[in-house]
Amino acid sequence: MKILLDETTLQEGVRRMARDITSIYGDRPVTMIGVLTGSVVLVADLIRQLSMPLRVGVVQASSYRGTTTRGHLVINSDLMPDITGRDVVIVDDIFDTGNTLVELLAMMDRLGPMSVRTAVLLRKTGRQEVTYEPNFVGFEIPDEFVVGYGLDYHDAYRNLPFVAALESQEIDSTPP
Ligand code: 5GP
Ligand code: MG
Repeated sequence: MKILLDETTLQEGVRRMARDITSIYGDRPVTMIGVLTGSVVLVADLIRQLSMPLRVGVVQASSYRGTTTRGHLVINSDLMPDITGRDVVIVDDIFDTGNTLVELLAMMDRLGPMSVRTAVLLRKTGRQEVTYEPNFVGFEIPDEFVVGYGLDYHDAYRNLPFVAALESQEIDSTPP
C-alpha cells in the first residue's frame, strides 16, 4: 500500500480541526457523536485536543451496497445520548458520496438539537452526490480506496497509524 498521510501529518490535521472547532464553540458545551466504526481513532485523538465541556457518544451507520444499486443505509441510534437542545458535532472518518452524513443529519434533526455540524478526517475529491459540505475537514484526498487510522478493508487495517491507499492487487485479495 501507498502511504498518503503519515502519523505526523495526521496529528497536525487533527490539531487544525480542533482549532477550527474551538473557534466556533469557544467554551460552550459540545456533544460529539462518532460514527462507528471508522471514526473511533479520530474521536480518540480529537477529543484530547478540545477543552470545552464535552460529551461523547456514538451512532452506528452501516451501508449494504450491491454491485450496481446504491447502498441502503441502516442507522442504529440506540447508543446515542440525548441531543435535545445540544450543540452536536457528528464525526466520521471519510466524506465520500456524502450520503451517510446527510442521512445522519436528517435523523438527528428530528431529535431537536440546538445545532448540528459535521467533522470528517478525509474528503474524497470529486465523489460527492449531495450538495451538503462538512463543516470541519482534516484532509482532501484523491479518489482512491484508503485504509488505516480507523478506516478498514473487510474489517482489517483499522489499527494502522497512517492513512494509505490500497493497491489494486490488495483490493482483490482477502486481507489478513
Ligand atoms: P458516503 O456515504 O460518504 O459515500 O460514505 C461514507 C462511508 O463509506 C465512510 O464512513 C466509510 O465507511 C466508507 N468509505 C468511503 N470511502 C472509503 C475508503 O476509501 N476507504 C474506506 N475504508 N471506507 C470508505
Ligand atoms: Mg463509516
